Amino acid sequence: MSNFKKIQQEMKNSGLRALLLSDEADRLYASGFHTTDGAVLILQDKAYYITDSRYIEAANEAVRDAVVLMSSTENKEKDIIKRLLTENSISELGAQEESLSYAEYLRTEKALGVKLVPAQKLCSVLRQVKERFEVESIVKAQRIAEKALDYVLGIIKPGISEKEIAAELEYFMAKGGAEGLAFETICVSGANSSRPHGVPGAKKIETGDFVTMDFGCKINGYCSDMTRTVAVGSVSDEMRRVYETVLSAQLAGIDAARAGIIGKDMDMAARRIIENAGYGEYFGHGLGHSVGLFIHEGPNANPREERPLPAGAVVTCEPGIYLPGRFGVRIEDMVYITENGCENLTNAPKELIIL
Ligand code: ZN
Ligand code: ZN
Repeated sequence: MSNFKKIQQEMKNSGLRALLLSDEADRLYASGFHTTDGAVLILQDKAYYITDSRYIEAANEAVRDAVVLMSSTENKEKDIIKRLLTENSISELGAQEESLSYAEYLRTEKALGVKLVPAQKLCSVLRQVKERFEVESIVKAQRIAEKALDYVLGIIKPGISEKEIAAELEYFMAKGGAEGLAFETICVSGANSSRPHGVPGAKKIETGDFVTMDFGCKINGYCSDMTRTVAVGSVSDEMRRVYETVLSAQLAGIDAARAGIIGKDMDMAARRIIENAGYGEYFGHGLGHSVGLFIHEGPNANPREERPLPAGAVVTCEPGIYLPGRFGVRIEDMVYITENGCENLTNAPKELIIL
């Protein structure tokens, strides 16, 4: 499963003769093979995957459509790249300006004796549109997360702590086959639930609390992302009103999602409902973000996003209302953008659950 051909087509379109991928996620995207170290050099008609002895056996087995080369202390990665660039008379090299530190940028330019040109966008734009394999990986991760949610709904009760719930979610996802977490699990309750990205703590769940859980895992490097808010024991009228408002906003956001919609317009479709209910100032973050090899990718669905969502993007829809010191509610699904609308990749129920 390699994307080298796609990247090479883009390079031909933009007249870029050589591209050096240093970004970990982009190297995985290009080759289908994950290492935390190494480099990928792509020419318009040939690609090279450069790694060291720790990964060489696995790389030889997994990498398709590229020549696998081994670096060592005698044959350093930068020397291999320099030789390939010289052999192909390349003086300008596309580099990943957002992934390289300033020091790395200077070092690379000096060591390779070429001019680096910014080319981060090439992969990030391609990554916006997911292939079938990529969507299947996201869905697989999502199903594992949903099973973990089912399990913890059975153990959430007064006395259990936020931290225990988060740990159970993570343990259950790992047992279910997850490669790792997509991001740090969020589990906040009661007054803490007004903190959108609160850290799970020792606080024990009490009757009358909302519990918000935002979590996800990875399959084949691809992330899942979901949030559910459940109540314990009972809810006040206001808690129910806030929950129903967030849910209406979430459904309106999903309803607006389709290929070509500008990110800020999808955001507004949901935000309007929260504003009309009088809670506009308590929805401080964007409606959603794209999901892929990174948990937060572009394009987004937020008030600043001027880009359209392409067909094939996977975007979250996650409005929230957070009343400081009191309680908060967020509900999050991932949707797959199609020409005429979207397909919800999340199966977990959304009606208010009172445990
Ligand atoms: Zn989330
Ligand atoms: Zn999210």
